[in-house]
Amino acid sequence: MNRIYSERHIPVLLKEVVDNLVWKPDGVYVDCTVGEGGHTKAIAERILETGGRVIGIDVDSEVLQIAERNLEAYPNVQLFKFSYVDLPVLLNLLQVHKVDGLLVDLGVSTYQLKGEGRGFSFNQDEPLDMRMNLESELTAHHVVNTYPEDRLADIIYNYGEERFARRIAHSIVQNRPINTTRELVEAIRKALPYKEIHNRKRHFATKTFQAIRIEVNKELENLAKFLSFAPDLLTTGGRIAIISFHSLEDRLVKHAFKNDPRLEPLGDFIAPSMEEIAENPRSRSAKLRVAKRV
Ligand code: SAM
Repeated sequence: MNRIYSERHIPVLLKEVVDNLVWKPDGVYVDCTVGEGGHTKAIAERILETGGRVIGIDVDSEVLQIAERNLEAYPNVQLFKFSYVDLPVLLNLLQVHKVDGLLVDLGVSTYQLKGEGRGFSFNQDEPLDMRMNLESELTAHHVVNTYPEDRLADIIYNYGEERFARRIAHSIVQNRPINTTRELVEAIRKALPYKEIHNRKRHFATKTFQAIRIEVNKELENLAKFLSFAPDLLTTGGRIAIISFHSLEDRLVKHAFKNDPRLEPLGDFIAPSMEEIAENPRSRSAKLRVAKRV
């Protein structure tokens, strides 16, 4: 790994996650999205002296190398390159039949966003990629260059909540081939009215980039699949905690926690404090929901 990367990922709602998830001191917990290991470390720390352990998984092998270094001091953590969609397979291999807690922290890690070479960021000029799992086939290049205009517009509208989705999709199609993040930013710029480019609080390409990333990584499909089997992996009283960053994700989680007879939601969602948002602006749209296996 030779990418330039200096910024550490700050785990979102860290204390809230650990306080709500870790209920059994000698329990087995799965961090389904280890990233750089921020949440994994705090959970492992809490249960280190009491015989608890954490199984951590991520699809991104580069991010996992960082997590391995960050978690070296924790003998109660095991890390695996796995998708949370395949968690039942992994638990079977490990002969773990039920777990006491499951954590999913959705979205993108700072390494993926700020490190060079993965094509997630509109601030760098890189090949269009955006895959979290470097072995998966679908890339942002494929989505941007081959999807029909209507399908692109729907993705940008639904996953990006971008009002100008149709205009952006049209401009993308007109400007093909689009090979780099910079070229994609330019196609978006051409589609937007002047004031949208200059007056938005966040960069004008944010929503479109988010939408394409969600499509490339099948983020909503994966979450829906996970929600369908996850309760069966939990012991009675076991907890499931999910941090979402997008209203579509949160809607899936809220609906599952409320309507799944295997689960009982624990309170309403938890949002970051003003202090946390000031310290870590990435947390601003985070919502943590927790449910208990009944
Ligand atoms: N909680 C982590 C921390 O504090 O360092 C950050 C997690 S980051 C927001 C989300 C992570 O989920 C990324 O590293 C990404 O590669 C991973 N991810 C995305 N889809 C996944 C999947 N289907 N299975 C496992 N990990 C996945």
